[in-house]
Amino acid sequence: MALDAEIKSQLSQYLQLLEDDLVLKVSTDSDEKSEETQALVDELAAMSTKISIEKTDLEHTPSFSVNRVGKDSGVTFAGVPLGHEFTSLVLALLQVSGRPPKVEQNVIDQIKDLDGEYHFETYVSLSCHNCPDVVQALNIMSVLNPNISHTMIDGASFKEEVEAKDVMAVPAVYLNGEPFSNGRISLEEILAKLGKSLSADELSNKDPYDVLVVGGGPAGASAAVYASRKGIRTGIVAERLGGQVLDTLTIENFISVKNTEGSKLAAALEEHIKDYDVDIMNLQRAKGLEKKDLFELELENGAKLKSKTLIISTGARWRQIGVPGEEEFKNKGVAYCPHCDGPLFEGKDVAVIGGGNSGVEAAIDLAGIVNHVTVLEYNSELKADEVLQKRLYSLPNVTVLTNAKTSEITGDDNVNGLSYVDLESGDEKHIKLAGVFVQIGLIPNTDWLGDQVDRNKIGEIITDKSTATNIPGVFAAGDCTNSAYNQIIVSMGEGATSALAAFDHLIRN
Ligand SMILES: Cc1cc2nc3c(=O)[nH]c(=O)nc-3n(C[C@H](O)[C@H](O)[C@H](O)COP(=O)(O)OP(=O)(O)OC[C@H]3O[C@@H](n4cnc5c(N)ncnc54)[C@H](O)[C@@H]3O)c2cc1C
Repeated sequence: MALDAEIKSQLSQYLQLLEDDLVLKVSTDSDEKSEETQALVDELAAMSTKISIEKTDLEHTPSFSVNRVGKDSGVTFAGVPLGHEFTSLVLALLQVSGRPPKVEQNVIDQIKDLDGEYHFETYVSLSCHNCPDVVQALNIMSVLNPNISHTMIDGASFKEEVEAKDVMAVPAVYLNGEPFSNGRISLEEILAKLGKSLSADELSNKDPYDVLVVGGGPAGASAAVYASRKGIRTGIVAERLGGQVLDTLTIENFISVKNTEGSKLAAALEEHIKDYDVDIMNLQRAKGLEKKDLFELELENGAKLKSKTLIISTGARWRQIGVPGEEEFKNKGVAYCPHCDGPLFEGKDVAVIGGGNSGVEAAIDLAGIVNHVTVLEYNSELKADEVLQKRLYSLPNVTVLTNAKTSEITGDDNVNGLSYVDLESGDEKHIKLAGVFVQIGLIPNTDWLGDQVDRNKIGEIITDKSTATNIPGVFAAGDCTNSAYNQIIVSMGEGATSALAAFDHLIRN
C-alpha cells in the first residue's frame, strides 16, 4: 500500500521533528492486511534515517509498536493507522522519540504516579471522529509511564475479535482485558476513572471564591472568562467541561466561525478558560446548594466549595425516546437539533418524533430543507399550537402519523429507517429514512437544586434580564434557564451577562 503524495509530504515534514532514534517492531504474516502494515512501516523507515524496523511477534498480527532504541514504549497499532488515526500515528512517533506531549504538568505527574500494570486496548474504526482523542490520550499515558501500554485495534482488520467481544460502537476501551469505557473519554476522565482526581478534602480546603460557576458548557465557559477578566477569584466546577458541544458533530451557526466541529469548539472553550486565572474542577458533579455566610456548593464526592456568588449553568439534556438504535446511531442519522443538523439532510427523507411545539416547529423548519418529513406522534392528535399545526398541514412534503409508537431506529453504518407500531391497528410498519430527529423535549439539569432556586414547571431556573434568580447572589445562564432559545451563542451571551451581573452584585454588597 503506497501512501498518497499529500500524506507523504505531511509525514516528511513531521518526521524532521523526531528527536531520538526510533525502532518500529513489526509483527506481520503473509495476508493482505499484513502486507499493508509492512508497506506502511517500510515507507516510514524510508522517509527518516531515525527510524529502523525490527521483525518480531506481537499480541496482534498484523501490528507494529513504536519504540525508542533500547526502550519499549508500549504504544502499538494493530491495523494501519491512517484515516482519522493518521494524527495518532504522527503524534506517537514524535512523542515516543522524546517530543513532550501538550499536557499540563499536574496531569503528567498524575500519569507518572500511577502504580500497577495497565494494558489498554482501544477498538476503533478509521472513520470514527471520536476515536483519535482516546487513542492519543492512552498513547500519551503509555509514553509517560512504563507500567502502561496501549494498543489501538482497527475493528475492520480484526473482525473476529470485535465480534467475540461484542463491540457495537467505537471507541471501545478495554483495560487488562475488561471493558473500561465506551465512546469519547478525555485524558482527565481516564485518570479520574483510575482514581486520580482531587479528593473531597483537597477540594473542601480551597479558599472561598468570589464567583463560582457550576457547569462548563458554552454558558459556564463564557461566565468564567468574563468573571476572571474582572480580576476576581473565579472557580468552575463541571461534570464534563464542554457540555453538549462535545456531543455535536458540525456547528455552522456560531457566528464568525463558518463551520467547526463540536470537539474543536469544546477544546477551544477549555483553552480559553485556561488562558485566565480560573480554578478548573472538571469531572465534579454538584449535588446541593446551601446559603450560610457564603454559598456552599456540595459535590457528589462530599466536598463543599464556598463562594460569595454562584452562576448556575448546568445546561440541559435532550429527552431520549429510549428505543433500540437511538444510542447506536446518535450522530449517524439520529439528531436532536434541527437548527443545527437539519442542513446535513438536505434533499433527503427524515422523520421527526414528537408532535408538540418543538416537534412541529422542527418539522416546518426541516420541510424547507429536506425532501420529505414524516412526523410521528404517539397520541391521537398533535399537541402543538393551532397556528403551527395549520402551517404544518399546508406543507406539501410533510406526512403526519398520529397513534404512531416508534419501536426501533434501524440502520447499518448510518440510519436507514424507523419502525413504528400503528396503535389503532396494532401493525408494525417501517419507513425508509436518512435521519430521525427526536423532539420530545429538553430536560434542564436542575434536579440537584432541590427547591432552593425558583424554577418553572418544566424545571428551568427562572431568571430576570440580568440572569438573577430569586436568591440574591445566585445567577443562572444557558439551557438550564427559562430563556427563549437554547443555542451556543445564546448561552454564551447569557454567561457573559451573568458574570457581569455577579461582579456588579459583589461591588454593591
Ligand atoms: C447534538 C446537539 C447538537 C447541537 N448543535 C448545535 C448547533 O449546531 N448550534 C447551536 O447553537 N447549538 C447547538 N446545540 C445546542 C447547544 O449545544 C446548547 O444550547 C448549549 O450547549 C447550551 O450551553 P450550556 O452551557 O447552557 O449547557 P451545556 O452545554 O448543557 O453544558 C452544561 C454543563 O454543565 C455540566 N453539568 C450538568 N449538571 C451538572 C452538575 N450537577 N454539576 C456540575 N456540572 C454539571 C455539564 O457537564 C456541562 O459542563 C446542539 C445540542 C445538541 C445536543
